Amino acid sequence: MPIGVKITANHPQAEVFVSRRHHIRLLDFRLALLVFLVIAAIFLITGYWVVQRTRNFYLAQMAAEAHRLAGSYSQQVVVSAQAEEIVASLLAAKIDVAGDVIVQTDRPYSDALLSQLAEVLGVDEIYAYTPAGVIRHASNGRTIGWTATPDHPVHTFMVSGQASEIGPIRSDTESGVYYQYGYFRTSDGGFIQIGVLADKIQALLSQFELQKMLGELAQSDYIQYIGFADAAFNPPSDSPAGLDWARLMSPDAREAIQAGEDVHATQTVAGTPMYFDLSPVIVGGELHGSLVLGHDMRATNNLIRNVTTAWLAALGIIFLLVMATLIGVRLRNRLLFQEYYFNPLTGLPNRHYLDASLGSAPQADTDGALILINCQNMSLVNTLYGYAFGDQMIRSLANELKQLIREPDQLIHMISDRFVALIRQSDGRDGLVSLCDHIQAAAVRLYPDKKLKLAIAAVECHPGPLEPDKLIRQASLVLRHHAGQNSQACYFYDQAMEETLERQDQIETILRSLSVGQGLEQFSLVYQPIVDLKTMRIAGFEALSRLKTARLGFVPPPEFIAIAEQTQLIVPLGQRVLRLACRFIADLTKAGFGQIRVSVNISALELLRDAFVPDLDAIVRETGIDSASLGVELTESVFSDNIDLINERFMQLKARNIRIAIDDFGTGYSSLSRERDLAVDAIKIDKSFIDRLLDLEPDQAMTGDIVSLAHRMGHLAIAEGVEFENQRAYLQSVGCDLMQGYLFSKPVDAKTALDLLQRQNEG
Ligand code: C2E
Ligand code: CA
Ligand code: CA
Repeated sequence: MPIGVKITANHPQAEVFVSRRHHIRLLDFRLALLVFLVIAAIFLITGYWVVQRTRNFYLAQMAAEAHRLAGSYSQQVVVSAQAEEIVASLLAAKIDVAGDVIVQTDRPYSDALLSQLAEVLGVDEIYAYTPAGVIRHASNGRTIGWTATPDHPVHTFMVSGQASEIGPIRSDTESGVYYQYGYFRTSDGGFIQIGVLADKIQALLSQFELQKMLGELAQSDYIQYIGFADAAFNPPSDSPAGLDWARLMSPDAREAIQAGEDVHATQTVAGTPMYFDLSPVIVGGELHGSLVLGHDMRATNNLIRNVTTAWLAALGIIFLLVMATLIGVRLRNRLLFQEYYFNPLTGLPNRHYLDASLGSAPQADTDGALILINCQNMSLVNTLYGYAFGDQMIRSLANELKQLIREPDQLIHMISDRFVALIRQSDGRDGLVSLCDHIQAAAVRLYPDKKLKLAIAAVECHPGPLEPDKLIRQASLVLRHHAGQNSQACYFYDQAMEETLERQDQIETILRSLSVGQGLEQFSLVYQPIVDLKTMRIAGFEALSRLKTARLGFVPPPEFIAIAEQTQLIVPLGQRVLRLACRFIADLTKAGFGQIRVSVNISALELLRDAFVPDLDAIVRETGIDSASLGVELTESVFSDNIDLINERFMQLKARNIRIAIDDFGTGYSSLSRERDLAVDAIKIDKSFIDRLLDLEPDQAMTGDIVSLAHRMGHLAIAEGVEFENQRAYLQSVGCDLMQGYLFSKPVDAKTALDLLQRQNEG
């Protein structure tokens, strides 16, 4: 179920939507779609344009061709009309001359005469008519007796009353052959008709015209049909079968043609799509007819189809490319998103996710909490069992945590061994503690051998601005503060803790600078006398560290020693202590107190280092002291671990006559039987046992028992923190060997210590 967190991170992929199942929807997908749609639209428009252009190109070519043909056809018609006119006038002149000669001849007409005259005058036919219009004589000797019918041109002339008339070239009504005729009245009231054969001229002219047309037609790729419609808009004689002429030559079309305009129309003729161009042919300002040009659209349509297909294919390829790019970008974004916002090991959201999901100014509406879960010893686990095992451990823990921390709470896998739970609504500490108990119990259930140790810190937060960084820092402080402690399921943050930790940081900074030889004046040793209880003379000194800074004033040794141990800075610090103590021994020896022993406190961390003894040897050599003047004190509390290694070191020290004392005896949990085997010289009875002497009856205080136990093990007994005379008296009575405490002297500086020794010798 989506948790509906809308992330607006300042991360490349501006806006993302995240759900528990890591389903990521990139909102820029809509933009991608828009881009594609725009591209597709551009493509479709261009495609449509290209198709239209192709189509129009072909049609325009055809129209131009039609126009050109119509023009040249008109020209042709004009030329042939002129030629016909010239021929007609030449023939007319010939007929006229022949007519004059025939009319004026004084010989009576006979077929033979007419035939003779025709030959002489170079005309083809001569007929002599009676006044009633009946042929009397004919040059060809035939058609005698033919009578002109009333609507015949011969009859028209006969009744016209004119002296002569020369008609146009026309086909003969009887034979159909083209002739030009002339009519002349004779003195007897009759008339003669002279005919000149015009058939050859006519044939020549029309043949010339047709050939030219066909020649033109043959040259054009754009025209598949050509025909000529006369001025009366009759269909061309060879018009294609199935042509709807009435529709093609509609009244509108006729009107346009009459106005001298081209007309275009499409029509499917016998299943073939045709494009027609009707072009008027104008001769001498008069409509002569119209040229009908037909273009078979199949080729053009094919071409358009091919272009369209190619265009769509290109669009398809571009679509695929765009989609592939988008998908690629989207996958990459998703990967980047996954890498950036989720931990690869557990698939849980990481801290970037937390930052992003909370937005720029997060607010808490209710009491909530941040729980920091730290797997304490992961580096050790990884070292001992391998990283695969460590990873598995983290994964198993993550699975358990997923069960325990549910919506609306948020589980974050911060870094390798740290998880954060953001509890949105908490019902107080009890609820949080119970949750942490469950988490701890899960860890134990997963690894009953306690391989998985969890340290849990909780920071409570209240309604108001939410600062996750601060909460995490505070939780980390809690873990630091309680480092190594494991008694509680979880530790809570409080203000005082922060102040403590701040002071710890400052101390750490000082210790660090000391370790590199800076600010050395802040650090010194003081020496507290250790007195022989029998003689009450100073037998030795314990060297104690002092740290005094301008900012923090006097810092108690337990405080800075603990920090030095946590930060490993105890090593350089311990070296410094040893060097200063050895120099003091050198000074004492020089002053004639070579038998006075000076003990230093060492921490187990120092002692366990391989370099401890070699380093000590080097300092002993460097200061030129006798190592028998040196003692070390090691607190009992560290003995439980590493007892063998500690004893090995003790043996090495013993070989150098260095006195070894167990410090704070009685406070640790060490078993006395084991300590018996340790190469130890002395036991320092803890101050708490000396203090008890004041409150309890001596036999209840155990102090005497410890002294006799020490003696039984062959160790010296040293009493610490002796402040009162009755304590001293008691210790003396039970045979304690040495004592140390304010009763005799507080720790003093080196010079005072030397003074004490000198005064003792004088006294
Ligand atoms: P500790 O080794 O048990 O040292 C004895 C502590 O008791 C010293 O405190 C000393 O000043 C104090 N003391 C001595 N006599 C009396 C007395 O009569 N009454 C009271 N109330 N206190 C007395 P200090 O110097 O504060 O040291 C505290 C602890 O710090 C030491 O306990 C020791 O464990 C540690 N420490 C001090 N210097 C060093 C050091 O150089 N290295 C290491 N590793 N630890 C050190
Ligand atoms: Ca000590
Ligand atoms: Ca002590």
